[in-house]
This record gives sequence, structure tokens and C-alpha cells, in this order.
Amino acid sequence: MTLVPKSCGACSVCCKELMFDIAGRRILAGVMCPHAAPPQGCTIHQTRPEVCRAYFCGWHHLPSLGEDWRPDTCEVLISFREGPAPDGKSGGIEFELIGARDRIFWLPLVEYIATLIADNDPVFLSLPGDVGYQSPWVYLNDIAPLKDAIANRDFAATTAALSQALQICIDYPKTPLPDGTV
Ligand code: SF4
Ligand code: SF4
Repeated sequence: MTLVPKSCGACSVCCKELMFDIAGRRILAGVMCPHAAPPQGCTIHQTRPEVCRAYFCGWHHLPSLGEDWRPDTCEVLISFREGPAPDGKSGGIEFELIGARDRIFWLPLVEYIATLIADNDPVFLSLPGDVGYQSPWVYLNDIAPLKDAIANRDFAATTAALSQALQICIDYPKTPLPDGTV
């Protein structure tokens, strides 16, 4: 199979949802970076901060995800997490619902999450954080009804458990970003 390199096109989602300062601190999630000029892209591309260079967009790097998964189209930002998951596994994939929350029920997303969890890959669901606050998130592998539903190939129970996971994100206690961020 020949892989066609993906282009960000008019997408600038990561430059809005994951805005970092030059020191690599996450700031002002939900506010477009002043260096972004959508749909053209980054106006300082050659000199953009290291944190921008190091960001791995899941859509860009997962060859199985087609154009319908581009973040500005599907309203789901996929990122790779570093560090241990709550159960000690390393890394993981995070799905952040940057638009309508009912995108959690988008069939390709449900199927992809189910495949990852069935394979025991760490999977996180998150929502954009308010300015100055951490993004609410939940570790999907820890939700027993979801794992059971996926193991039983029960679609209705799977979507019900994803709805439960979404509610955990919605109810997430507001947690200010660490000192040094705004
Ligand atoms: S979110 Fe991904 S596709 Fe969109 S601008 Fe960032 S790297 Fe490109
Ligand atoms: S510096 Fe460029 S790549 Fe980095 S967030 Fe801003 S617009 Fe995006």
C-alpha cells in the first residue's frame, strides 16, 4: 500500500486547542495562537517553538485515518499521550471532542475506540478546558461497563458506556493549570 502524505490543509485545530508558550507550557487552550493564519497555517513555520515541532497529531501520524478524520472536519483532535496511564501502561491515545459532544457517538470513532480497547491500548477521552484550567479527561480503559460491552460486541451498551464516560468529563472538577500558566 502506498501511503499518501497528509496535509493539514485549512486545519489549525492544534494551534487553538493546544496553545503553548515558547517554554512549552500549555496556555490559553481554546484561543487561537497569534502566529496562526488559517487557512494558510503558521506564519512563523520556520522558527516555530520546539513544542510545536514536537507535537504529534494523531490524524497526521495514523495512516489508517482518512480525510474524514482531519480534526477540523470530524471535530475530534487525536493526540499521543506520553507518560504512564493510570494503570501503569505507557503512553496512549487521547480523543478530545473539540466540537459537539455527541461526536462521541460518531460510528467511526466508536469503532476505533472499541478496537483500541479490545487490543488493550490505553485510550483517553477529553474535552477542551476552560481558559486557565486543565482539560477534563477520563481513562476509558478503567470504565468496566465499556470494556465489558466491547468484549461482548454489544453496540448499544458500548455507546451507553461512552455516554457515561462523557459525563465523567463533564463533571470533572475544575483544576487550575499549574503556576506559570495563565
Ligand atoms: S490538528 Fe493535526 S491536521 Fe490540524 S493543524 Fe494540527 S497537525 Fe495539522
Ligand atoms: S507557533 Fe505556529 S505551529 Fe505553534 S501554535 Fe502558533 S501557529 Fe501553531
